Amino acid sequence: MSKLTLAKLELANRLVLARVDYNVPLAAGAVSDDTRIAATLSTLRYLLQHEARVVLCAHLGRPKGKPDLRYSLRPVAERLERLLDRNVGFCPETVGPRAAEMAARLETGGVLMVENLRFQPGEEANDPEFARQLAELGEVYVDDAFGAAHRAHASNVGVVRYFPQAAAGLLMQRELEYLGRIRDAHEHPFLVLLGGAKASDKLPLMAHLARRADTLLIGGGMAYTFLQAQGKPVGRSLVQPDLVAAAGQLLAQARPGQILLPEDHVLADGTVVAEIPADGQAMDIGPRTRTKFADAIARARILFWNGPMGVFEQPPLDAGTLAVARAVAACAGTTVAGGGDSIAALRAAGLEDKLSHISTGGGASLEYLAGERLPGVEALSEA
Ligand code: ADP
Ligand code: MG
Repeated sequence: MSKLTLAKLELANRLVLARVDYNVPLAAGAVSDDTRIAATLSTLRYLLQHEARVVLCAHLGRPKGKPDLRYSLRPVAERLERLLDRNVGFCPETVGPRAAEMAARLETGGVLMVENLRFQPGEEANDPEFARQLAELGEVYVDDAFGAAHRAHASNVGVVRYFPQAAAGLLMQRELEYLGRIRDAHEHPFLVLLGGAKASDKLPLMAHLARRADTLLIGGGMAYTFLQAQGKPVGRSLVQPDLVAAAGQLLAQARPGQILLPEDHVLADGTVVAEIPADGQAMDIGPRTRTKFADAIARARILFWNGPMGVFEQPPLDAGTLAVARAVAACAGTTVAGGGDSIAALRAAGLEDKLSHISTGGGASLEYLAGERLPGVEALSEA
């Protein structure tokens, strides 16, 4: 990691503006999944232990540049207060005199959250004037919002020029360290395990990693686009017809044995087949595929997993996903996973803590692993 980190900052009694990724799901006005909030706690505790005064800015949903209370960050501030076990002030404005005054009044160890960045049109437009107003809320800038780093917005890119330095928070640092090791693939055997519904989301990443991975395992709904490309019968399984050619190209470029596809399948009615009948829909990888995937996973020195192997929301069609989740958890190498549904499956199996790193980055992780430069990462100062 070549970027400036918290360890290099002078923090005592200084006002820190921290951009965080609190784009969490809400249900009935309350946070229904606080994974992203919890993921920033180590950064916040570090800042507070070092006697900083902290102003948090974040976005939530798509309020389209004007205030919309359905997307207020107030419930997020309340949840953070509980998780952090200390007072978190809330300013119903994002920038301006009131926000600046509340920030200035913070005492050492105090935390303030300002209202949703996207209530202001200047955020997504990366407007310099909005960035300048935001910068007035801090003396030191920290970006911990890896999940927003694929966008060049005022709070992660525009704001940086108003500070002497831009440092990565601990979550940003962890994401860059682990995802960087996956992306650069210097450790072998390097295994990539992909699944999920759509090949379209993951094809760019697949193309980048396929050149570097020793083994690429493909399961889940996207596997059938690949089996179709091989001319295998897929029945009524999920296929993206416009991607069959690209899938075929990837298979043609692969070394023999490099890409493994499912050899048996569980159909919607629970039957296991090696060949999918014309009216059958494959909803999970079969037992033989599970064993083969688990054996390959056990041999990896470093691996990345994204996407469930089947329709895991409907047991018993979760068996394939659980089998690979257990294999990933048991792997002695470095294990990194990402993707909302894969993380949900790991959590349901109680295996979250068994991995080296779980990326909360979503789209940013996929772009980073596809070899793209992320504007929010580029904007950080070098160490
Ligand atoms: P992640 O969120 O981990 O990146 P995706 O969103 O790409 O994963 O895919 C998850 C979805 O893929 C789940 O809703 C799951 O039901 C679906 N899925 C997995 N396997 C299949 C399959 N064989 N047929 C249809 N849908 C599938
Ligand atoms: Mg998903």
